[in-house]
Amino acid sequence: MPEIQILGGGMAGLTAAYLLEQQKQPYQLHEASTHWGGKLETTLVDGFALDHGFQVIQSAYPALSEFKKAGMFHDALAFGSGAWLLTASGKTLLADPTKHFPKGLGAIFHPDIKISDALAVVKLRSKLLANHPENFFQGGTQTTHQFLLQSGFSESFIESFFRPFFTGILLEEALASPHSMFQFVFWALAKGPAWLMPGGVQTLPNRIVSTLNPSRIHLNSEPMSNHQAGISFKSTTVVYFSIETDAGLGKFIALNASRMGRVNLLAVPSAVQEGYAPKGKHLLAVSLKPSFSGKVDAHEAKNEILTEVENLLQQPLNAQFIQSIEVKKALPNNTPYNYGDIDSSGGMEVDGEVNSDDSTFFAGASIANPSLNAAILSGISFVKRVKSL
Ligand SMILES: Cc1cc2nc3c(=O)[nH]c(=O)nc-3n(C[C@H](O)[C@H](O)[C@H](O)COP(=O)(O)OP(=O)(O)OC[C@H]3O[C@@H](n4cnc5c(N)ncnc54)[C@H](O)[C@@H]3O)c2cc1C
Repeated sequence: MPEIQILGGGMAGLTAAYLLEQQKQPYQLHEASTHWGGKLETTLVDGFALDHGFQVIQSAYPALSEFKKAGMFHDALAFGSGAWLLTASGKTLLADPTKHFPKGLGAIFHPDIKISDALAVVKLRSKLLANHPENFFQGGTQTTHQFLLQSGFSESFIESFFRPFFTGILLEEALASPHSMFQFVFWALAKGPAWLMPGGVQTLPNRIVSTLNPSRIHLNSEPMSNHQAGISFKSTTVVYFSIETDAGLGKFIALNASRMGRVNLLAVPSAVQEGYAPKGKHLLAVSLKPSFSGKVDAHEAKNEILTEVENLLQQPLNAQFIQSIEVKKALPNNTPYNYGDIDSSGGMEVDGEVNSDDSTFFAGASIANPSLNAAILSGISFVKRVKSL
């Protein structure tokens, strides 16, 4: 078999290289930029690990299994399953009471949460958990918002919980993304916790790279131009502050349920993984609503953003601004929203064009759905296809 050329050292390309390395097949991996991991990127500043965009790894993703077997997540640590709802009347923890007793019971008394919402959560959870995630991507053009209404959730619960929570994942506030994506992510979060890697999200790609033969992998290398240059992307901005305590949030993310302002969600990653901050400090990540990403200079607006956070938390934070990071190309718009296994979906369609060259195969999340699972699955499928030549 001729040597396989892999273009792109994001999770799709790294997965392909990892499998070929395991199978002792010749390959060369080229990454155009100066870092491995593509969208999984972390910048280290004065002992703080700043992920490019607020990112978690959904531990239940089926595609992670190869890397789990290799022990790459042995020290991953989980966020609590649930979230704080922040409103003018204070903060309430919305969490599974069976896992977080008695804290999780507080949500019962929240004015935006009705008994019917609690029942709808239980019903949706058990319906999705009884399914295989591949089935979520079979047909249906409903938006996430339409799906939530049809599933029996009240507008007030959607506004307080689903809108900020899934805005943080889908990177759009209208909840206009197909309900397939919503179901897949909800399924994953119901099935297993959201992980943080020690030292930031880029630790995962770095661990994969450490298993590859250094003579086969090349940074700053772009032997062919980017065939996906025409894809449009959603952007996101995260503003980082150094704080003295965990601001009372602990291992839970906090959602802006007030329906106002620029802040979408907050988290203290160092309360989950200590290594996100130097000893004695905590890292506060403030993720802005996508409609403000790229439209406000977060560096200039840092004081107003901090004031908004302090108002939401109803406490002064004595915070020091570290950096704001805008990710212009965060999630691709208009992916086909299929599961991501190109063998089973039967196509390699990119931007409406089907590749006709039978020695070139496309992979990557943008040909399936905007998730880590899809990126890895497409890398696995890529290897299956090249090996079948
Ligand atoms: C802020 C943020 C939050 C996210 N949150 C989640 C989440 O909660 N759950 C989830 O499942 N997913 C999430 N994702 C999405 C997930 O990270 C991506 O779907 C996945 O990492 C994409 O991997 P990829 O390999 O397909 O593409 P990329 O990561 O974009 O990698 C492509 C790589 O190819 C390189 N490249 C391109 N063209 C060439 C060329 N011609 N030659 C050489 N190199 C080239 C690029 O430089 C890049 O490094 C998030 C992404 C972001 C940015």
